[in-house]
Amino acid sequence: MCQLSEVFVMAEPRCSKRILVTGGSGLVGKAIEKLVTEGGAGRSDEAWIFLSSKDGDLTDAGQTKALFEMHKPTHIIHLAAMVGGLFRNIKYNLDFWRNNVHINDNILHTAYEFGVQKVVSCLSTCIFPDKTTYPIDETMIHNGPPHNSNFGYSYAKRMIDVQNRAYFAQYGCRFTAAIPTNVFGPHDNFNIEDGHVLPGLIHKAYLAKKNGTPLTVWGTGKPRRQFIYSLDLARLFLWVLREYDEVEPIILSVGEEDEVSIREAAESVVGAMNFTGELHFDATKSDGQFKKTASNAKLKNYLPDFQFTPFPQAVKDTCDWFCSNYDSARK
Ligand code: NAP
Ligand code: GDP
Repeated sequence: MCQLSEVFVMAEPRCSKRILVTGGSGLVGKAIEKLVTEGGAGRSDEAWIFLSSKDGDLTDAGQTKALFEMHKPTHIIHLAAMVGGLFRNIKYNLDFWRNNVHINDNILHTAYEFGVQKVVSCLSTCIFPDKTTYPIDETMIHNGPPHNSNFGYSYAKRMIDVQNRAYFAQYGCRFTAAIPTNVFGPHDNFNIEDGHVLPGLIHKAYLAKKNGTPLTVWGTGKPRRQFIYSLDLARLFLWVLREYDEVEPIILSVGEEDEVSIREAAESVVGAMNFTGELHFDATKSDGQFKKTASNAKLKNYLPDFQFTPFPQAVKDTCDWFCSNYDSARK
């Protein structure tokens, strides 16, 4: 068995696969790390390497190449990205576009140059056209403009799909992409201004409970989202890396019937945090995209028995993690 350390893993001769996880210090990366280090999901022929931006800036081609020279990956899960919730996206569309285009081009082209056998990159259901029919499926990525709030992030992510197809067409590379819905869990970014809705609400509920103030939900609470727990997503990423052979992307999502309103999501946080104060809705704040209901039919076809963690339980586990790790959590 390869020896697994907290940050990255050095390969032993028996580890024929060297799996580099970019963005390994983030929400999704930490969940994959937990699964392979503590969850018994690592395999004896795999060495896992989890990178943070402290190991190298992937917007820089030279630093990216140096990381490949050091770690010599055979496989990559590419998670690193400039990431943020609705309100960070609205403010920094240009930065989202530029940073993510550079990161993605550096990773994919260096992977090609180093003969990496497989790259699984990460898209998002928020990159799909805003005006569309529902449910959204994998064939619809490029069918029209994304929601205006996050067009920089969305177009940069869409280009991963373009590049995956082009590397396959020109060089036969097996580069693919997973498309998760809204992710949440331990190690999320709980910064109230910059983060996504669930970590933002958990942090706000924590403070409201402590200070005896109301909990303010931004927007009307009417938009709808499908949330996926990071530890469920991590299990699916391992399957995509090991078993999924298509270049075409695959949506990783709970079912359409599991979509909830922002109000319902806030009520789950209220329950999990035992918050007994008032719930306010600030309708002067943006609602963003109303919904992006995605089909998980393709996933279900491959994995009909996959069990997702029930939403209330996953919210409770995340709230408990945040309260227990308040001092060190990203906020
Ligand atoms: P996250 O918690 O914000 O983590 C982002 C990761 O990217 C961190 O490890 C960060 O490193 C790294 N990173 C950022 N800029 C970098 C740079 N210039 N060079 C090297 N590393 C860099 O994000 P996440 O939520 O885990 O997201 C993972 C992937 O899932 C992303 O591709 C995201 O677009 C996608 N996704 C996320 C969601 C969601 O709801 N969170 C939904 C759909 C898709 P440091 O922390 O060390 O700086
Ligand atoms: P999105 O799913 O890509 O739009 O991004 P978010 O995870 O940031 O979710 C945005 C939705 O949640 C919008 O409808 C917001 O109005 C609503 N929302 C309610 N409260 C908050 C909050 O505290 N933070 C964030 N980011 N969104 C909130």
